[in-house]
Amino acid sequence: MAIKYIPEPFRIKMVERIKMLTREERIERIKEAKYNTFNLKGEDVYIDLLTDSGTNAMSDEQWAGIMRGDEAYAGGKSYYKLVDTVKDIFGYEYVQPVHQGRAAEKVLFPLLLEKGKVGISNMFFDTTRAHVELTGAKAIDCVVEEAKDPTHRAPFKGNMDVEKLEKLINEYGKEKIGLVVMTITNNSAGGQPVSVQNMRDVSVVCKKYNIPLVIDAARFAENAHFVKQREEEFKNSTLKEITREIFSYGDMFIMSAKKDALTNMGGLLAIKEDAELFQLVKGNTISFEGFITYGGLSGRDIEALAIGLQECLDEGYLNYRVGQIEYLGSILDDNGIAYQSPAGGHGLFVDAKAMFPHIPYYEFPGQALAIELYIEAGIRTCDIGSYMLGNDPETGKQRQADFEFTRLAIARRVYTQAHFDIMAEALIAIKNRAKDVKGYRITWEPPVLRHFQAHLEPVK
Ligand SMILES: *Cc1c(COP(=O)(O)O)cnc(C)c1O
Repeated sequence: MAIKYIPEPFRIKMVERIKMLTREERIERIKEAKYNTFNLKGEDVYIDLLTDSGTNAMSDEQWAGIMRGDEAYAGGKSYYKLVDTVKDIFGYEYVQPVHQGRAAEKVLFPLLLEKGKVGISNMFFDTTRAHVELTGAKAIDCVVEEAKDPTHRAPFKGNMDVEKLEKLINEYGKEKIGLVVMTITNNSAGGQPVSVQNMRDVSVVCKKYNIPLVIDAARFAENAHFVKQREEEFKNSTLKEITREIFSYGDMFIMSAKKDALTNMGGLLAIKEDAELFQLVKGNTISFEGFITYGGLSGRDIEALAIGLQECLDEGYLNYRVGQIEYLGSILDDNGIAYQSPAGGHGLFVDAKAMFPHIPYYEFPGQALAIELYIEAGIRTCDIGSYMLGNDPETGKQRQADFEFTRLAIARRVYTQAHFDIMAEALIAIKNRAKDVKGYRITWEPPVLRHFQAHLEPVK
């Protein structure tokens, strides 16, 4: 039985029109886009679930903040407001705004990694992995085994496999490990949360071997929500208390503020107490991003970010937000459509391998479902599977991902219940004709982060 949809804890003050093209037009458009959903024009999309990044609706308070943004080149008021907010929520001493998450990676990682070194994560997000590899280092994922079975419902499928982590450290030698990254929530594993206990255990291992522990914090608020729901010790804690606790175990964090922080652009890098490292961060920021008090952002964006960081820890909002995705998941349960379950924080990751057992990983089942969703209902999604993972940098061979997901990423405060019903209906329709869906092959690809730009064609 489908669960109840939690009503929006806001009312709509401004609208943006969207339209549905005809099926014939959609078939034509996706072909013109070389079967890459990133190449579609936004206006040709009816429901855009490509990403929850930068697609959030800002609040009246944030829009008011846009007018208050201080555009001083150095030392603007908005910068100080952001620094105070970050210190208050996370308890870290040194705060550096940057223009988005990958900018934080670009600024920080070359200070900790180089050729011959290794970075280990519960799971690297694609740009995070790319920035590890751009330094010449190797990136290794170390998520718990239960994350790899989409039908297995466990409370914290984003966790690090701590035993395996320690084994890897000993295998490579502790001096080779440049950093450990905890991605919360674990995006690539399906927006699955990490428990506070797992953070504690990972931090004990990192301290033992003297390895910096970096939190990739894009969805820290959704993670705190899941901790409150699922980790007994924290059921009476506030989301801010949980956040404080989680971040107390890290040494630094990088954050794409385009996710939980409810902005359209922005990022953060913060360091708990290492003043020397922060000095180096400031140097790189000035070279790559801009002066340290704006870090590649307008003052107005910094102001909206400071406000968004506070709004996103509201319990009523997070109950609704995560509830939307659980609602969609419950309809899929009723119709036998598998997804990374339980439902994640920022989207539903549909198990395309289960829907298309006849399409092998090297013909990209996740991408095939993304294309079908566009043809079926003008819904734009993306592959989180072998197509996204790309080729092995050493051998040049296609890597096989642990999952073949199609991600329905849900923008925050944007779509309503009727849109979710359309998503469910489209998936059910595709499931009913699944055996006729074909795989895809790549006809052109760039050397890194290929899924954003590659061209594809259907396999005959
Ligand atoms: C989005 C994201 C990033 C990269 O952030 P951008 O703002 O897109 O550059 C890094 N890590 C995680 C977990 C993300 O979700």
